[in-house]
Amino acid sequence: RFAINLNVRGIQPSATLRINELSNQLKSEGKDIIKLGLGQSPFPVPDRVVEALRQHAHEKDYLPVKGLKGLREAIAGYINRSERMRCTWEDVLIGPGSKELLFMLQLAYYGDLLIPRPSWVSYAPQARIIGRSVHWLPTHAENNWQLTAEELDIVCRDDASRPRILILNYPSNPTGCTYTDDQLLAIANVARKYRLILLSDEIYGEVHFEGRHKSIARYYPEGTIISTGLSKWAGAGGWRLGTFIFPRELRPLQDAMAIIASETYTATSAPIQHAAITAFNGGDDIEEYLKQSRRVLKVVGEYMHRRLTEMGAVVQKPEGAFYLFPDFSSFRDQLARKDIKTSQALCQTLLENTGVAILPASDFGFVPDHLAARLAFVDFDGAESLQLAGGDYADQ
Ligand code: PLP
Repeated sequence: RFAINLNVRGIQPSATLRINELSNQLKSEGKDIIKLGLGQSPFPVPDRVVEALRQHAHEKDYLPVKGLKGLREAIAGYINRSERMRCTWEDVLIGPGSKELLFMLQLAYYGDLLIPRPSWVSYAPQARIIGRSVHWLPTHAENNWQLTAEELDIVCRDDASRPRILILNYPSNPTGCTYTDDQLLAIANVARKYRLILLSDEIYGEVHFEGRHKSIARYYPEGTIISTGLSKWAGAGGWRLGTFIFPRELRPLQDAMAIIASETYTATSAPIQHAAITAFNGGDDIEEYLKQSRRVLKVVGEYMHRRLTEMGAVVQKPEGAFYLFPDFSSFRDQLARKDIKTSQALCQTLLENTGVAILPASDFGFVPDHLAARLAFVDFDGAESLQLAGGDYADQ
């Protein structure tokens, strides 16, 4: 006889992984499935990074809990070069995916979690597993789903000294929208006023279509932790490597997370850490890879945006990442006649009737009858598209 922890009871397995497994199962039964559910980079890992992994396949030792010094140096160099934050190698923590680091942050820190609605599928379930309360912050489609400084201030004002973490993710999963400099500055000022810990989830920072990705850490350096990794820009989601970069002021939090790591996974796999040095050190080939992958994603995203708009969905043009978040409320009456009243039912019917796999808005914090969904526009041959990207592809 056994009992399941009450915090875990009632939480479904991760929504994206669930839809991926179901899509794979239907595909293996011979059904034609278009996989727009899982947000996985369509591109192969850059050749030189794969070669570095091969060369280090024999590395077998446990590595230091916070990560290999050479990799921490490479990441500090990368963060300094991209002018997101001024840091040294000691400010860097390596983990087996940023998802694990986000979970450890919630374990290590005492306080509430603030997240904008909609937000990535795993922040809230992670908090619930730990028994932490989650406070959803409202955002609006007309405002590109951006959190405003005013909304944040209203929520924090209530109990100004309460310890809280705010997670801000941009470019955003699920909306593909990002923030301007002025918006980041305004949010940073409120975060400082209430001494929030700001977790800046910049996992899609390199997949930013126009101009350069900027970090909110520039405006709130003493309270911002940057989260990034290899998964979304180097095509290496399954390798499982993520990183947090801490300001010196938050070193005790980094140390607390390292204690949890030392008692749980010990350290991230050695060959992957060695290979990641090559990725984060960059070079002309990696710059070119990034340039072409952004170009392809921009074209595909704009095409999907146009088609969805023509269909009558309300959807924001993606500015980065590989997601669209269309709202199908204008079809509410039509759908109700087919007994489709929730985003979950909409996605289920779509998958069964047309083979298109997408994720319901309810997985991103919305009430069940909010008729919106997330599309990950990644079901195409990434390697081939990178080759074509050098030619006329971008204009087609
Ligand atoms: N944050 C966001 C917004 C994501 O979309 C994802 C992955 O889908 C992650 C974090 C976790 O990425 P990983 O654990 O592969 O570093």
